[in-house]
Amino acid sequence: MRFSGWRVLREGLTGNRGWQGHWRDPDPKPEYDAVIIGGGGHGLATAYYLAKDHGMTNIAVLERGYIGGGNVGRNTTIVRANYYLPGNSEFYSHSLKLWEGLEQDLNYNAMMSQRGILNVFHNDAQRDSAVRRANAIINQGDDAEILSRDQLREMVPLLNYANNRFPIQGALLQRRAGTARHDAVAWGFARGADQRGVDILQNCEVTGIRTEGGKVIGVETSRGLIRAGKVAMAAAGRSSQVAAMAGLTLPIESHVLQAFVSEGLKPIIDHVLTFAEGHLYISQSDKGGLVFGSYLDLYASYAARGNLPMVEHTMEACMAMLPTIGKARLLRSWGGIMDMTPDGSPIIDRTSIDGLYLNAGWCYGGFKATPASGQCYAHLIATDRPHEAAAAFRLDRFETGHGLMDEEATGAQHNLH
Ligand SMILES: Cc1cc2nc3c(=O)[nH]c(=O)nc-3n(C[C@H](O)[C@H](O)[C@H](O)COP(=O)(O)OP(=O)(O)OC[C@H]3O[C@@H](n4cnc5c(N)ncnc54)[C@H](O)[C@@H]3O)c2cc1C
Repeated sequence: MRFSGWRVLREGLTGNRGWQGHWRDPDPKPEYDAVIIGGGGHGLATAYYLAKDHGMTNIAVLERGYIGGGNVGRNTTIVRANYYLPGNSEFYSHSLKLWEGLEQDLNYNAMMSQRGILNVFHNDAQRDSAVRRANAIINQGDDAEILSRDQLREMVPLLNYANNRFPIQGALLQRRAGTARHDAVAWGFARGADQRGVDILQNCEVTGIRTEGGKVIGVETSRGLIRAGKVAMAAAGRSSQVAAMAGLTLPIESHVLQAFVSEGLKPIIDHVLTFAEGHLYISQSDKGGLVFGSYLDLYASYAARGNLPMVEHTMEACMAMLPTIGKARLLRSWGGIMDMTPDGSPIIDRTSIDGLYLNAGWCYGGFKATPASGQCYAHLIATDRPHEAAAAFRLDRFETGHGLMDEEATGAQHNLH
């Protein structure tokens, strides 16, 4: 079934009886050519591109919960291509280009909104860093502009320009950045993969990875043994636990990141705003809720709920930057588990076990990576060679120290990235 304006009209006139489920609910087969562990954005996108780009359709995505229940449905939906370091910048540039054609490609409304991102800076050092970043982004072929305080004020008048502690000097603007509805992205990829023959298996937890003679032969699951010559891990938030099933230890520490939504308000914020001081990012959803977040909860945990000090910090940052929203009521908050690498950059690579692949370490920035991660991971799984856009995401950089991409320049401390 294809979605179109004509289809909506027809269904509207005929009692909406013709809509179908977005994907099937098949029983697991005893064997596939490849299985993907994790039905988040990355796992589903990988399945989609394996089928679309490489003709691999005898594959399954194994999801222990439901589609959209992981981080893909918990993030603050920001999509951008404003990375600084080689290795990252070409990858996220590639990803944004995929985002720009994604809804047509998937025939699915992911509510992609290129409303622009403004990274507000507060002092000379931050301004220097923003200018360097803008130059790197432009050299990469993407768009970036530096706005003065007056230009920013004209664009976003409601910021606290009278705050002496966090004076606003200007902002780095990327107009092509924006937001996409996070769980719709998962549904769109799931539907696209299913339409190409991929089995999406929900409530199917992987409990073991079977190997023989240094080669993977399948996985044990809550729905029985499934054999496969290729097993691809895409279990964000649980990467270390899943890799441990094959005896692997990853350079990853898992932390909680919280997000918050206010009650619905009239449109007041047209862009995605981020503030270097107080580390706050905020946008407004189409329903009117302000969607925002800040730092990680700074201790390792697998509990997908956050602590109160970080709630307090985030609200204080809101009040410092946007005091006008002080009377808005907070509607909901939640947490997701972030797999943090020491350099803050991800991994898409083979492992030491033949046929076992790793996609992990997306820290708090993997939503924007979803299409490119899926495409590059699919390329690796199908050809056993890295995709050129993800060539830098090697696992052995943490062993050798060569090729680290420390985007934040905070050193090898997981919780600081
Ligand atoms: C509060 C918050 C805000 C964020 N904001 C942004 C943002 O604005 N922009 C951005 O780019 N990124 C953001 N992120 C990060 C982004 O959401 C993640 O990096 C990304 O979603 C991770 O990839 P995924 O979608 O595949 O993860 P997930 O959706 O978590 O997918 C992994 C899946 O693996 C499944 N799984 C785990 N173990 C097993 C098992 N043993 N067997 C079977 N299945 C298993 C899980 O159930 C899960 O569904 C944010 C994250 C959070 C929590």
